[in-house]
Amino acid sequence: MKYGVLGDIHGNLSALEEVLRCMDREGVGRLLSVGDVVGYGAAPRECIQILRERQVVVVLGNHDAACVDRLDASTFNNYARAAVNWTKGVLTREDRSWIEKLPMTVHLEHCSVAHGTLHRPELYDYIQSTTDADPSLDEMPLPVCFVGHSHVPVALLRMRDDPTRTFYTKDPVVDTDDAHRALINVGSVGQPRDEDPRAAYAVFDTEAGSVHIHRVTYDIPREMRRIRDAGLPEMLAARLEWGV
Ligand code: ZN
Repeated sequence: MKYGVLGDIHGNLSALEEVLRCMDREGVGRLLSVGDVVGYGAAPRECIQILRERQVVVVLGNHDAACVDRLDASTFNNYARAAVNWTKGVLTREDRSWIEKLPMTVHLEHCSVAHGTLHRPELYDYIQSTTDADPSLDEMPLPVCFVGHSHVPVALLRMRDDPTRTFYTKDPVVDTDDAHRALINVGSVGQPRDEDPRAAYAVFDTEAGSVHIHRVTYDIPREMRRIRDAGLPEMLAARLEWGV
């Protein structure tokens, strides 16, 4: 079985379409999303519609939650808050009710999915060190868990030969057969922040026992135009080009 894992999409339709084209070519059978389907980008409704049509398994991100008043956006920065307010104005009642039904975590046959941490997903904490990752690694019921939230791809690992030691790697290929626990941030489809503007996504091949993080170029100028035409802050268009 091949799972395709979509990191933070953030209403970026061009990036989502390109990533799905790549996943289809790779023969991905099941699609997962670590949340933040909306916020920042100018095509939230189109992205929701695609995920619904393709029956993607999705968890609730903090921007998704803020757009349906499940989370107070006052702690968000100005750009994020402006995008939440704009997104609230375009979502239909049906979109909102789809978001409201999203779970905080999902456990499937081969892997779990959460947005920030598996440990306390409702807090939307960031995993930026091995210490941040340890509580989630301790609680993982399955060897593999996918997260997003920081928009930076990284794997936090405990290997079978020394499961007491947590370390991280930015290697885009993770051997999950050798891992006792693998907590993998798949990066972001719609707003990469590691200075590489290409869309990120992951493919988990359960038979090969591996997770690959891929990067793909997409039509960034088209998506920048969409953001400007929507009247969203210029910074949200510009950052797509910079990958920050
Ligand atoms: Zn996000």
